[in-house]
Amino acid sequence: MSRSVMRYVPHTIRHAPDLDWKREAHCTTDDCGEFIASKDEDAVQMWCLRHTGRNPGHDTFRRVFTDHARVQRTA
Ligand SMILES: [Zn+2]
Repeated sequence: MSRSVMRYVPHTIRHAPDLDWKREAHCTTDDCGEFIASKDEDAVQMWCLRHTGRNPGHDTFRRVFTDHARVQRTA
């Protein structure tokens, strides 16, 4: 019978400040398919407002905010 020794090393996970958030907005109107992806939240908001202004009825969006995390050994 073999024996093994398990060693646990503590880690932490945190937002990686050197990697920006990513923001996306996808028009959810059937067959539209238009979207924007940007690091600039204001640009994404303005795109949604302009898209609805140019396309009446395209007034709902699926918004995605992506965070980047980094895991580091603490001991
Ligand atoms: Zn649309």
